[in-house]
Amino acid sequence: MNTRSDASDAGLPERLRQVRLRIAQAARAAGRDPAAVRLLAVSKTFAAQAVEELAACGQDEFGENYVQEALPKISALRGRWPALCWHFIGPLQGNKTRDVACHFDWVHSIDRIDLARRLSAQRPAERDGHALPPLQVCLQVNISGESSKRGVAPEQLPELARQVAGLPALRLRGLMCLPAPAQGLEAQREPFARLRALQQQLVELGLPLDTLSMGMSADLEAAVLEGATMVRVGSALFGQRAPRPA
Ligand SMILES: *Cc1c(COP(=O)(O)O)cnc(C)c1O
Repeated sequence: MNTRSDASDAGLPERLRQVRLRIAQAARAAGRDPAAVRLLAVSKTFAAQAVEELAACGQDEFGENYVQEALPKISALRGRWPALCWHFIGPLQGNKTRDVACHFDWVHSIDRIDLARRLSAQRPAERDGHALPPLQVCLQVNISGESSKRGVAPEQLPELARQVAGLPALRLRGLMCLPAPAQGLEAQREPFARLRALQQQLVELGLPLDTLSMGMSADLEAAVLEGATMVRVGSALFGQRAPRPA
């Protein structure tokens, strides 16, 4: 019989408790208020039922990467859980912007002005009879400079930020990054520190950004130490993901 009781064996409520504890400990170590870090549960590849189980524990922000997978989940849950906040964090394609603009509350992965313009033009004024606020957006920055990674290059960030900030149905909230995996706290902190410095530059240019979306299951402590206001956590909550079919 398996008698281990580590995170991988625990149920969703226990894993949620452990992730919240990790966030709170890192926040306290940084002298920050743990409540200043929002936990986004990345539910990609997991069923609506798992989302619902976390929602019942009070988790209300969820991240999805694939539009086609997310839409049925969102519509299955919207009726019973109208207060859930849905974040689109995956690669954004031009032919999917309308679905994203209609069904999500946040988008973290904007890296081109044409995508931002489409999202702004396609954001509806209302949904289910309720007025919809502007779509809350972050710009994804290619912080590790990898050619394979998505994200705007740091040199082009100020211009993109200025343009996005001027779009009527979007509200520019901050920056997001997905750095190359690194081992050890110090190596993990370095790209997050650079993202924070870029955000600071934009604030000095007069853009009122309040969000740093950074940190995942393996590096959330490093991100919180560097000022993350949102961490995006998947496998530490839901368990390992099955490989995605091509
Ligand atoms: C999958 C994913 C996450 C969560 O990753 P874990 O390592 O499972 O926590 C966070 N952000 C983005 C953009 C992702 O695609």
